[in-house]
Amino acid sequence: MAEGRLFFALWPDTEVRQRLARLAREQKPQGGRLHHPEDLHITLVFLGQVADERMPCVYEAAQQIAGSPFTLQIDTIGHWPRPRILWCGPSTIPDLLLELVKGLQLGLTTCGFTPEKRRYKPHVTLHRKVRDAQGGSISEPFEWRAADFVLATSGGNTPGKPRYHILHRWPLN
Ligand code: ATP
Ligand code: MG
Repeated sequence: MAEGRLFFALWPDTEVRQRLARLAREQKPQGGRLHHPEDLHITLVFLGQVADERMPCVYEAAQQIAGSPFTLQIDTIGHWPRPRILWCGPSTIPDLLLELVKGLQLGLTTCGFTPEKRRYKPHVTLHRKVRDAQGGSISEPFEWRAADFVLATSGGNTPGKPRYHILHRWPLN
């Protein structure tokens, strides 16, 4: 079994990470727990625990993506009461992002994964354990240029340390 839970994601570059981290710090939701800045990301597809023998197929699914870079306009803050997260994200989803997600899902189906039924909603979790908060527009929206995507694993649980790490990165081109 590959260690931890796996997921495909967009990972911000340093500049975007700093903007996300600042935005997260500016939000002061009650009881919220801030993400480590290096953990800030947008999940594309969540895989969960993956058996070792499935890993080559997962890498192959990523390898065969013929994507193109795209730009997200991060302009919205939202709160989802059930997962209890405060998030930010784009109000408009570029077609290239949807195609990337669909392409990964399709490839992963051939590896035996069950595709997600819920509509894809790109978001960056800023705080977890937030029971109640107000969403809205971001006063200073910013751009996130996505030129690659990653396979990441979760599992770290040391306070103050990142909980995710990147296993591999694929360019979008
Ligand atoms: P924990 O669940 O222990 O609090 P975590 O949420 O940090 O840990 P994971 O549950 O492994 O870590 O999630 C990794 C990433 O995948 C996160 O961005 C999370 O929002 C996303 N994710 C987790 N479960 C799902 C799911 N069922 N569908 C879509 N995305 C998911
Ligand atoms: Mg989780």
